[in-house]
Amino acid sequence: MKCFLGVDDTDSHLGHCTTYLGYHLVKRLIGLGGKFSRYPRLVRLNPNVPFKTRGNAAVAVEFECGDSAEIFEEACALVEEYSDVSNGANSGLVLVDNPSQLPFFESIYRRALAEVVNKRGVINALKEKGTRIFALGNGMGVVGAAASIGFNGSLDHTYELLAYRRRERCGTPRVVDKDSVKRMDQETFPRTFNNYDYQRDRVLITPHGPDPVFLGIRGGSPQVLLEAFKRVEFSENLEGHMIYVSNQCTDAHLSHGLSLPLKAYSAGKIAGTVSGLTSGDGGHLYFELETGRGQVRCAVYEPAGDLRKVVRFLVPGDLIEVAGGVRRATSKHDATINVERIHVLSRTLQVNAKNPRCSGCGTRMKSEGTDKGFQCRACGRRASEKENTPVRRTLMEGVYLPSPRARRHLTMPLVRYGRETNGDSYSLVKGWFSASEPRLLRVPARSLL
Ligand SMILES: [Zn+2]
Repeated sequence: MKCFLGVDDTDSHLGHCTTYLGYHLVKRLIGLGGKFSRYPRLVRLNPNVPFKTRGNAAVAVEFECGDSAEIFEEACALVEEYSDVSNGANSGLVLVDNPSQLPFFESIYRRALAEVVNKRGVINALKEKGTRIFALGNGMGVVGAAASIGFNGSLDHTYELLAYRRRERCGTPRVVDKDSVKRMDQETFPRTFNNYDYQRDRVLITPHGPDPVFLGIRGGSPQVLLEAFKRVEFSENLEGHMIYVSNQCTDAHLSHGLSLPLKAYSAGKIAGTVSGLTSGDGGHLYFELETGRGQVRCAVYEPAGDLRKVVRFLVPGDLIEVAGGVRRATSKHDATINVERIHVLSRTLQVNAKNPRCSGCGTRMKSEGTDKGFQCRACGRRASEKENTPVRRTLMEGVYLPSPRARRHLTMPLVRYGRETNGDSYSLVKGWFSASEPRLLRVPARSLL
């Protein structure tokens, strides 16, 4: 029978990782005779919810198996083993063996991307359907687990190859040859992306925490990820790797319009006319957007880097669309959009008003006083209006993003614009899952990170 298993919120701030549980889940399921024909799913949900763990990632797998009751027991045992409950994980596991229920899960996915979904409501609905669920901690993970089952290949998606460290290496520095990452990037871009931050001269594929992820490479197809992975040189024996299909780098959380008044922690986009540009402490920039349905306050915080340059070039009257997450109102200010993307739709015409030139001799005329017009000192000709010359704008129409370091997992990099996938998902490639990494590469010490 066809089964869908979703898990979420097994990690804590101290270094467990839901994708690593996903890797072990697949390993165990294959061991139990589970048959895979679709990639495991790595699903990012609303990054603005206040109680998320680091990346707010959930994982779902789809497979064929004999007895879903046995699978459920095994999966619960794995979640217990890999969840960091004592450090704040609120794990959830959901098993669906009735594909006719999938539309319900798709609706939870859509809501969990851009809202805060009520846990109690979801758990009650699942119980009513007779869905098997398992929860640890406060059970918040059940929402993400259900949502991850609802993400499927019919929507825009990317792939990520995640390679995992052996347990004894977790917590030690990751040693990767920087130049090999740059070469890999140059040889596989734009089929892979987010490999290297050239502004800061930093490798982006390796995380820095104590978690078991050694590296993650993102791209548009499973094949190119395997190709890219082969090009990266490092000196560590790994535990294994797995390729996920994902909603990362698709802007999935920003595809819907924000409603007014702004709902705290929601995500989406809204268009309007710029006014009230101000800068605050710490390099944060603020402006108001007149949306036609009311004004909204927008903030571009200091870490957004490049996006602040864009705001500095905005002028009142510009028509833009902002996208991002809503910070709740405080005693000091209204609910505020934390801007993750700016689309400059049309620039207002900015003019520079000068005293007119004389139509006879070309001399710049002198003002005769407020509202009294202008006169040429050379030949006496008069004019009533100032001369308006349009100012050349530095800012172009188009889409602008924060610096790479400030982007979210869900942020669509510019290189993907026009490369969105619609339903054409790849079949499993040889090497999509590996529980033994034969490779140990030595790299020269000078190029170590
Ligand atoms: Zn003149």
